[in-house]
Amino acid sequence: MEIRVTKQAEKKLRRGYPLLQKEDLVREVKPTKQWVSFVNEAGRFLAKGYLGEQNKGIGWVLSNKDEPIQLAFFAKLFTTAKKARERYFLDETTTAFRIFNGEGDGLGGLIIDLYESYAVFSWYNQTLFQNKEEIVAAFKQVFPEVVGAYEKIRFSDGKLPESQWLYGKEAPEPLLVKENNITYATYLNEGLMTGIFLDQKEVREALSMGLVAGKSLLNMFSYTGAFSVAAKMGGASQTTSVDLAKRSLPKTREQFEVNGLGLEENKIVVMDVFEYFKYAARKDLHFDVIVLDPPSFARNKKKVFSVAKNYGDLVEDSVDILSAEGLLVASTNAANVSREKFQKMIEESLKNKQVRFKKVNEYQLPADFKTIPEFEEGNYLKVFFYKITK
Ligand code: SAH
Repeated sequence: MEIRVTKQAEKKLRRGYPLLQKEDLVREVKPTKQWVSFVNEAGRFLAKGYLGEQNKGIGWVLSNKDEPIQLAFFAKLFTTAKKARERYFLDETTTAFRIFNGEGDGLGGLIIDLYESYAVFSWYNQTLFQNKEEIVAAFKQVFPEVVGAYEKIRFSDGKLPESQWLYGKEAPEPLLVKENNITYATYLNEGLMTGIFLDQKEVREALSMGLVAGKSLLNMFSYTGAFSVAAKMGGASQTTSVDLAKRSLPKTREQFEVNGLGLEENKIVVMDVFEYFKYAARKDLHFDVIVLDPPSFARNKKKVFSVAKNYGDLVEDSVDILSAEGLLVASTNAANVSREKFQKMIEESLKNKQVRFKKVNEYQLPADFKTIPEFEEGNYLKVFFYKITK
């Protein structure tokens, strides 16, 4: 099937941009399971790809050659992706990482993570999901060592569950994985999340390597407490993990336990972070290190939070309860906030609070989260470490 795209879209595709939007198509076309050829207004071939509705757009380019999209095509993508991650496969201290990162590895709409010898597939649109037999067959050829797999359905279908078994052996629950020799308990078939966000491994590594030794750490939006565990393993004197979700309490306790760490020096608080800031100020609590890693958007009874609008408030509240010489770990995965804008938001808030500050470290996605320069929004993670003197 041929899909005609506009002149403007033609320019984008020629620059290597892989994602199509509704307005890029000359005529509206309903996605089908079929792979398609994108052609220009004159009918000349531009690229092979597919139409599939997802949050980011309505289709992806797979190749700028007029080649068949079939098992061998996917096997080649998986082989290249595997080679690019050789060092992760060789590193026995880290057993969970991303093995296929969507458009970064040539197939927008599919992400695959490895947890020990199990894979977790995330399908971002119906079209790829409908082609999964061929895609999974190619995956099994290239990754015979993967003994079982689960899948996450990240498009709205109404019928399918968010998570289900895909093939092979079932993983134990919890499945213990290692990252820089620290153990994390993961659950591969519980909703969309597994217990650890693999994109933060280099930040956790920094915390576990002595940067926060002897210091107290407050972990805001802590989820399962992974940053706290890394910091404690790196010699932090005490940690406090704050998350609104009730499940965060047993999940965080478990992450400490699987590393043989007790809970006396590791507090877990189920509370809205904005309430916690007030509580800590009232109790005159201070922390040497504060980690701020909120979701891009969050809604609760009282208010709507978005990184783009409210991150500065978090920074200002943090300064109030930071020690006289403190470290702020400011992180976001908001794709709609550029690195420059994020840095500006943080620094403006620090100026408002009239403290001295210095950016001492910064992180982006690790190499297993492969990105391409043509698709900047794919490079979503921004983490800055600020030394702050009050
Ligand atoms: N920093 C974590 C990931 C955070 S995920 C890590 O690296 O592992 C976002 C978390 O923020 C979720 O667990 C969610 O429950 C929590 N959350 C959202 N809004 C919140 C709020 N207002 N106060 C506290 N936690 C909140």
